Amino acid sequence: MALFSKKEKYIRITPNRSIRNEPAQTKPEVPDELFGKCPACKKMVYREDLGQTKTCPVCGYNFRITAQERLRLTVDEGSFEELFTGIETKNPLNFPGYSEKIASTKEKTGLDEAVMTGLAKIDGQQIALGIMDSRFIMASMGTVVGEKVTRLFELATEKGLPVVVFTASGGARMQEGIMSLMQMAKVSAAVKRHSNAGLFYLTILTDPTTGGVTASFAMEGDVIIAEPQTLIGFAGRRVIENTVRETLPDDFQKAEFLQEHGFVDAIVARQDLRATIARLLHFHGGGQ
Ligand SMILES: [Zn+2]
Repeated sequence: MALFSKKEKYIRITPNRSIRNEPAQTKPEVPDELFGKCPACKKMVYREDLGQTKTCPVCGYNFRITAQERLRLTVDEGSFEELFTGIETKNPLNFPGYSEKIASTKEKTGLDEAVMTGLAKIDGQQIALGIMDSRFIMASMGTVVGEKVTRLFELATEKGLPVVVFTASGGARMQEGIMSLMQMAKVSAAVKRHSNAGLFYLTILTDPTTGGVTASFAMEGDVIIAEPQTLIGFAGRRVIENTVRETLPDDFQKAEFLQEHGFVDAIVARQDLRATIARLLHFHGGGQ
């Protein structure tokens, strides 16, 4: 029941000293104000100094960006053709407020759902592209996200194209219950058919990539790249700590830790991503 108890205003750290019990004011999104605090190095940074890539000038931390911003940073100008929009998000469990939340999130983000899908070119090479956006209900995977990603792989298989997916997700969408868990198997089957056709699949894990998306298409890439300091995991840190009853290392579930342990092939700074993707596409002979 601690979940519902009221938080203490102060935490006693020694018999004579207390500190205010406040959440840290460091959000991974780009600050709305003129300046904000970098969540990684805790320095104050001007929004203007973050540049197009939204990178902390002090420590190189990459703030979260929108799918539209990611698109502008990644693909050849004017080459993106958005596909598979207009699939209606249903409310199979009659989850209270879910339909309203979908409608307001669509309006706020200008997105169709938590993933943007379509065809694009990078350095002149044709690809099938998916970009997830954490502003859309933590980019959780419900039936529409699963369907859009599946159709993207099916189209790429049919056209003989490589697939590039930028992942970000809080996991399966709880408002759709078991229907969202089923998407993991559905997408994975489409990824496998694409792979069987000898085609290249590249994933770029961005902050945060967790839950059912990690446990399916995020980790199924032929090459798996991550942005620096990205949170990557299945269950959350507190859940694991409570289950195994051990304190986990600080860098547990960070991209750098996962690379050391062989789950991530490379960590690439945001400003170098486009060139790296282009090089990998050329190398794998995809996308004429
Ligand atoms: Zn910083």
